[in-house]
Amino acid sequence: MMLLPKRLAAAFLALLIAASVFAAPPPRPDLVVLISIDQFPDRFIRRFQPYFSQGGFNRLMHTGADFTHALYPYSTMFTGPGHAALGTGQVPARSGIVGNTWFNRLDGAPEYCVSDPRAGGFSPLNLASDSLGDRLQEKFPGAKVFGVSLKDRAAILMAGRKATAAYWWDWNVGGFTSSTYYHANKELTSDFDKAIPEIVRAHPVWEPSGFIPPADLDRLTHDPEPLRKYKQLREGLGVAFPHPIKSAEALTYTPFGNELVIGFAERLLDVEKIGTDDGQPDILFVSLSSPDYLGHAFGPDSLEVADSIVRTDRQLERFLADLDARFGDRYTVALSADHGIQSIPEVARDMGRDAGRVDMRNPNATVRTFGELAPERLKLEKNAAAKLGLKVSNDTPLEKTLILYFEEPGVYLNWVRIREARLDGERVKRAIREAAKQIKGVSNAFTNSELMTLNRDASDLERAVRNSFRADRSGDVLITLRAGYIWDYAGAGTTHGQPVEDDQHVPVLLWGRGITPGSYDRPVAPTDLARTLGVLLGVEAGGPQSIVLPCVHQ
Ligand SMILES: [Zn+2]
Repeated sequence: MMLLPKRLAAAFLALLIAASVFAAPPPRPDLVVLISIDQFPDRFIRRFQPYFSQGGFNRLMHTGADFTHALYPYSTMFTGPGHAALGTGQVPARSGIVGNTWFNRLDGAPEYCVSDPRAGGFSPLNLASDSLGDRLQEKFPGAKVFGVSLKDRAAILMAGRKATAAYWWDWNVGGFTSSTYYHANKELTSDFDKAIPEIVRAHPVWEPSGFIPPADLDRLTHDPEPLRKYKQLREGLGVAFPHPIKSAEALTYTPFGNELVIGFAERLLDVEKIGTDDGQPDILFVSLSSPDYLGHAFGPDSLEVADSIVRTDRQLERFLADLDARFGDRYTVALSADHGIQSIPEVARDMGRDAGRVDMRNPNATVRTFGELAPERLKLEKNAAAKLGLKVSNDTPLEKTLILYFEEPGVYLNWVRIREARLDGERVKRAIREAAKQIKGVSNAFTNSELMTLNRDASDLERAVRNSFRADRSGDVLITLRAGYIWDYAGAGTTHGQPVEDDQHVPVLLWGRGITPGSYDRPVAPTDLARTLGVLLGVEAGGPQSIVLPCVHQ
């Protein structure tokens, strides 16, 4: 130091101080609350922002970190893969949760992503990667990690393999439940069940909240009377306001269903003493499922979804105020979604957009011949047969189909038939792939052999498909649809599940301890949340492609 000129020494000292400040770990929260809103595209919070309270989404957007360009980097945009991605920071190819359901080739039957008969129903048995919660419990034995949702797969897959417990709604019981995989608190669930009738009685009917002025509603929605026949009838709710609510099940198809989940989460915070200042940070995962249930039925352009969004904002405001009262500045909240949603195709067409339904559903047990297959399924079989020089007609018996099972986005081939016809399997896959591309609404198709081969020039779409691909679980041929098109099963309602912006672009909001507020427009992914929250909690989590979001300093 003596040898350095004075000014240089001072600069050096300043640099040292600055470096030590930046090297200090961010202040660790005692609790992280990760809220997932099931079916909540980013465009919802932008479109309805003027009608939000100050304490809900606006509070997170304006006094927290708002990532305006957060897109999932994979193709299977469903609840299971999405919640696994939020909890683990991994894409489906690594979490193993390639869909809500896939076809189990060994059992010859569909397999639900969280099924586990040995655990009395459901567990993270199929989850192939560790999670943020797992890493926390490895470093802090005794740390509490809980998942709460109406959906088993949402609660289980966010909470991870080592969760203290996951709780979800049991439709048979009409209340919250868990499985023998966890050390669940039975007293808690039975106590809460007693409060459910009161919550249902408090909402005998769902009417518009009035948070959005009628003139604005008209501009922000597209819900003409003649198109309401394309909405789905659920639990006696009808297709237009006012919606009578006659049961707890009906309540789950309204925004008031969120009160069940938030109410249960708050009871859990009380009973399990989560987030106490005991030197062991905890995580509470909360997934609101009702926006998804009602969103499928009414569609994102409906008056119902508009009202649900502004009502969810007020529920979030109350929940955050409760967290403030409990934890002050000792907690961090992150909010995101598992996927977005596409318009009801008939509504989209009425707005002048290209849209449609693609019906590839599996034949039921009564179907005997090709002629009885769903329209696009028949087209696919006939086109592929023609490419392979096979003769088929409407009278051909069902055993002769090349496709054994369809579980979106995967076609699982009928290998018995392929052997019997002495066909080359790769040739059959390519024929199905090319036949699929001829179907209106299909954007692309890939054989699993292609996806198992390195491709440095893969398009963004193919990269997304690869990020959702696992050879043992995914189909033999994978088909993606263009924006506006959905796989159809009922001729009404709508869905998500495609590598398109409407499904992939969701909010990523962080607020609280350790978070530098700001609006960040660089492209990020919701899969970055696990790694980012891990840095706050002092553990390493997340997939190899994920980054630490720049609202957290390392
Ligand atoms: Zn859904």
